[in-house]
Amino acid sequence: MDDPWDLVIVGAGPAGAAAALGALTAAPELRVLLLDRAAFPRDKACGDGVAPDVTDMLAALGVPGLLDDWAPVQRLELSHGSRRVSRPMRRPVRVVPRTVLDHRLQAAAVAAGARFERRRVRTVQPLRRGVIVDDDLTGLVVIGADGAYSAVRQAAGVPAVRRRAIALRGYVATPPRWSGRQVIAFDHEHPQAYAWCFDRGDGLANVGYGAFGTAGLTRAALLRRLGELLPGADDGTDWRGHHLPLSSWRWSQPDGHLLLAGDAAGLINPMTGEGLHYAVATGALAGRAAAAAITAGRPDTAGARHRSAVRALLGRHLRHTATAARLSAVPAVLTAGIAAANRDQGVFDELVELGLGQGRLTRRVVTGLARALVVR
Ligand SMILES: Cc1cc2nc3c(=O)[nH]c(=O)nc-3n(C[C@H](O)[C@H](O)[C@H](O)COP(=O)(O)OP(=O)(O)OC[C@H]3O[C@@H](n4cnc5c(N)ncnc54)[C@H](O)[C@@H]3O)c2cc1C
Repeated sequence: MDDPWDLVIVGAGPAGAAAALGALTAAPELRVLLLDRAAFPRDKACGDGVAPDVTDMLAALGVPGLLDDWAPVQRLELSHGSRRVSRPMRRPVRVVPRTVLDHRLQAAAVAAGARFERRRVRTVQPLRRGVIVDDDLTGLVVIGADGAYSAVRQAAGVPAVRRRAIALRGYVATPPRWSGRQVIAFDHEHPQAYAWCFDRGDGLANVGYGAFGTAGLTRAALLRRLGELLPGADDGTDWRGHHLPLSSWRWSQPDGHLLLAGDAAGLINPMTGEGLHYAVATGALAGRAAAAAITAGRPDTAGARHRSAVRALLGRHLRHTATAARLSAVPAVLTAGIAAANRDQGVFDELVELGLGQGRLTRRVVTGLARALVVR
């Protein structure tokens, strides 16, 4: 058995890297081991849309300007059948391939003092005073940032997420009509599914199709609907698919030495499929909770600390997105939402905040929706 680590993080994606940064900015003396089955840079199926809050949170973790060399994308276009809205967002997003984003984040975690090791973790065994990983590593606290099929989640006894989406992404040369924008075409044949084209600003666009609920959705079916909704987008390359564990009204994190963050914690926005913001936010909170518990000499309190921090930050927002996702599954409500956003920039901005940030279902959004439904 090697020397015990203070903190072992399983998964070096955005949640894992943010966890290392959160822990090391809170307590730089901690011995932090960051494990991933992949070597970096590595690809990950994603729309590559990075919300502005993500770069704010990274700056607060000591990594400012990480994506400043990528073009800001200001305009968002939403459509559902013939109904359409195209408006500038209050703050731009960046569309950055995960080979770039995740490599930079992993390198930032290492620069902050984490040790990176390539390893596929197979077993995680919580004990009274710490955690044994793969029979040869020990940590006072272990953070599971190991994505949608998390082994740490299973070891913590948290049931697998039931509500999942599936999505397929590829890359195409950006068609001029979609240049400088994020385009989302909701599927009028399948509720809670959409095709997207997100311009990266470097001549390529990330394209894909995602559907909430996974039954009977083959790769061929996803590609066909992508081509029907956004003709030409299905000409892409580098196709890669993945499941998305969607957040719901409730969120659980047990007491003890095992903490969960990002997809491993079942945190993907059920309206939009956005998960990077939650991954970085909950990764940083998990790192800070672990650091506080370890430096207090009570690593067993890490789980409770993390649970209360995540609930304080995201609890109400998660309940609002769960409600909004149910509402937007009704095609008439989705159409009304697009109409309301088309009429009022404020409604548009607040819907964007609900889908990409920590927004709520505000009075303005609810009134706008109700009005659009009545007019309809
Ligand atoms: C097609 C698609 C499109 C999406 N589009 C967007 C978007 O545009 N914007 C957005 O914000 N979100 C999007 N998401 C969601 C986003 O990709 C995830 O929420 C995000 O990757 C979560 O980060 P994470 O660090 O929790 O997990 P991951 O990024 O999945 O990282 C987990 C890491 O753990 C490692 N790992 C797994 N198991 C083990 C193990 N046993 N041992 C060691 N290492 C392990 C993996 O190699 C990986 O590096 C999309 C998802 C999909 C599938």
